[in-house]
Amino acid sequence: MRIAVIGTGYVGLVSGACFSEFGVEVCCVDKDAGKIERLRRGEIPIYEPGLDDLVAKNTRAGRLSFTTDLAEAVRGVDAVFIAVGTPTRRGDGHADLSYVYAAAEEVALALDPARYTVIVTKSTVPVGTGREVARIVRKARPELDFDVCSNPEFLREGSAIEDFMRPDRVVIGTDSDRARAVMRGLYRPLFLIETPMVMTSLETSELTKYAANTFLAAKITFINEIADLCERVGADVHDVAKGIGLDGRIGKKFLHPGPGYGGSCFPKDTLALVKTAQDFGAPLRIIEAVVDVNDRRKKAMAERVVAACGGSVAGKRVGVLGVTFKPNTDDMRDAPALDIVPALQAAGATVSAYDPAGMHEAERLLPGVEWAKDAYAALEGADCALVLTEWNEFRALDLRRVAKLLRAPVLVDLRNVYDPEAAEMAGLEYSCVGRCSRL
Ligand code: NAD
Repeated sequence: MRIAVIGTGYVGLVSGACFSEFGVEVCCVDKDAGKIERLRRGEIPIYEPGLDDLVAKNTRAGRLSFTTDLAEAVRGVDAVFIAVGTPTRRGDGHADLSYVYAAAEEVALALDPARYTVIVTKSTVPVGTGREVARIVRKARPELDFDVCSNPEFLREGSAIEDFMRPDRVVIGTDSDRARAVMRGLYRPLFLIETPMVMTSLETSELTKYAANTFLAAKITFINEIADLCERVGADVHDVAKGIGLDGRIGKKFLHPGPGYGGSCFPKDTLALVKTAQDFGAPLRIIEAVVDVNDRRKKAMAERVVAACGGSVAGKRVGVLGVTFKPNTDDMRDAPALDIVPALQAAGATVSAYDPAGMHEAERLLPGVEWAKDAYAALEGADCALVLTEWNEFRALDLRRVAKLLRAPVLVDLRNVYDPEAAEMAGLEYSCVGRCSRL
C-alpha cells in the first residue's frame, strides 16, 4: 500500500516512519524546505528516542521518502494523512484549522480522479472538521473519488514509536466501508497483535481524542490540587496517589503532581473542547475549571521559588534543571518553564539553566537565560536549584556536590524527583510538591 503524510512534525514524522516499518510505502511532505532537506540528509529535526534509526532503516529500504512537492507525494496513494498543526487560534481559544483546510485543498487539487483515495485527519481536530474537509475537497474537485476518515493519534512525545507500534487502541471514524477497509489494510500489523480497534463515526472519533486529552488533563489537575491540600494537612501525595491509583477504576497513571500540565496538546486541546462545548450549548464546567486551575498553577509556581529563597529573589541567581514540558523531548510548547522562568526574571532573579535536549528551542523563547553546559554548571553559585523537568540524568545527581556548588543550599523540586530525606541529609533545604508539609 502507499500513503502520503502531510506535515512532518512530531506526529507526521513518527506516523510516517512507523507505517513504513509496517511495510507501507510512505512519502512525507512538509512545506518547510529546511526540514525536508535535513530529513533527506538523514538528520532528524526533532528529538524523539529511536526515530533516527527507524527513519534511516526505512529510507534505506526505499519505503520512506521526503519531499516538499505535495502533488508528487500523493500520486498513486491509497490514503493521504493530514498531520499538520492545529494550534490555538489567536484571541478566542478555538483550534486554528487553517493549516488543515489549506492542506485539504492542496490535496484535492493534486489527487488523481481515476483512483479512490481516503483522506485521513491525523491531526487533533474539533468535531465537524472531517465533514468540512470533505466539503472543501468536493468543492475544489467534484469529480474525485474519495472518503474522509478521522484517525486521531494518541502517541506521547518521548515514547512516540512504542506508542504508535503498540497502542492501547486505534480509533477509526468514517461512514464509509471502503475507507474502513483501506484503514484496516494500513493497520494490519496491529490487527495481528490484537490491538483494540474502535470503529466509529467521524464525529465520535473526533470527539474521542479531545475527551481523552481533557480527561488526562483533569486527572493531572486533580492530583495537583490534592497535592496542595496534602501540604496544608501534612499528608503525602505520593501515598495518596498510590492509595487511590491501585483502585482499578482510577488507575495509577497520571497521578504525579507537578507544576501544572504543559506541552503541545493538553493546553490547546482543553481550551478547544471548552470552546466547542460552549458553541454547542453543552458547556463542560469541569474542563473549564481544569483550564483555569492549571493556568493559575503555572503562574503561582514562581512564588514557591520566591518563598523558598526567603521571600525575595531580587539580585539572586536561580539554577534551573530542565525546561522542556517533559523529559525525552525537545518540545517547548506551553512548557511550565515559559511561565516560571520569566516570572523569576521579572522578580529580579538571574536564571542559569540546563536541559539535555531543549536548549536550542528554548534559547529563542527564554531570553536572558544563561545556558549552561551541564546540570552542575547551571547550579554553580546559584542561590536556589530548581527542578522543572524530570529528565533521568537529574535523578542521579550527586546532591552533596549540588549543595557545595550552590551559594545557598536551597533545592526546589517541582517534579518530586528526590527523596526529601536524602536531600536534607546532603545539607539541602528541600521543598517539593505535596509531600513536604507546610504545617
Ligand atoms: P508540528 O507543529 O510538530 O508539525 C506540523 C508540521 O506540519 C510542520 O512541520 C509544518 O511545517 C507542517 N505543515 C503545515 N501545513 C502544511 C502543509 N499545508 N503542507 C505540508 N506541511 C505542512 O505538529 P505536531 O506536534 O506533529 O502535531 C500535529 C497534530 O497532531 C496536531 O493536531 C496535534 O494536536 C496532534 N497531536 C500531537 C501530538 C504530539 O505529541 N505532538 C500527539 C497527538 C496528536
